[in-house]
Amino acid sequence: MLNIVLFGPPGAGKGTQSEKLIEKYGLTHLSTGDLFRKHLGEGTELGKLARKYMDEGHLVPDEVVISMVEDKISSTQGSKGFIFDGFPRTTAQAEALDQMLSGNAMKIDGMIALDVPQDVLKDRIKERGKTSGRADDQDEDKINTRIKVYLDETLPVAKYYENQGKYKSINGVGAIDEIFGAISEVMDSY
Ligand code: AMP
Repeated sequence: MLNIVLFGPPGAGKGTQSEKLIEKYGLTHLSTGDLFRKHLGEGTELGKLARKYMDEGHLVPDEVVISMVEDKISSTQGSKGFIFDGFPRTTAQAEALDQMLSGNAMKIDGMIALDVPQDVLKDRIKERGKTSGRADDQDEDKINTRIKVYLDETLPVAKYYENQGKYKSINGVGAIDEIFGAISEVMDSY
């Protein structure tokens, strides 16, 4: 089993690279943003709760995210492993993930962080907003909030995995296939 955290700020390309990774390595994609958007689309109570935070670019409370991830892991049978995308986003989430995995005799093998400068992120998110239909991709203030939330609350998660000797950083600027090649090299080293 191989369990990877694909890490990076909003607009770093985590979704794009995850799609390629699940195809190449046959892993299960676990994107908390996608799971929340699914709930939103289906109009569930969880979706309604998450929307208030998502639309403003804030984080959904830890306990809500953690129990959603727990459900997803326990309902996925026979997986070769997970690509965690957009999770964990706080140190509390990272600790909860370690706990829930060890309870199932699983562990995180590594974190791969996509390194992209802020000005590139903003341009990419705005470009994505033209077609994604995402409210949080279309408003300059919300984009700035999401980047600030990343710096304040999510960046410490990189340190958490670095302390465990599991952190690898990749240049996230360039052609999609070039970046994927660099990620694949790290994947193949596990
Ligand atoms: P994403 O698609 O990963 O950019 O996520 C979109 C939004 O969903 C974020 O801005 C948050 O409001 C919410 N979200 C996704 N993942 C998490 C998480 N791990 N913790 C808290 N909120 C999250």
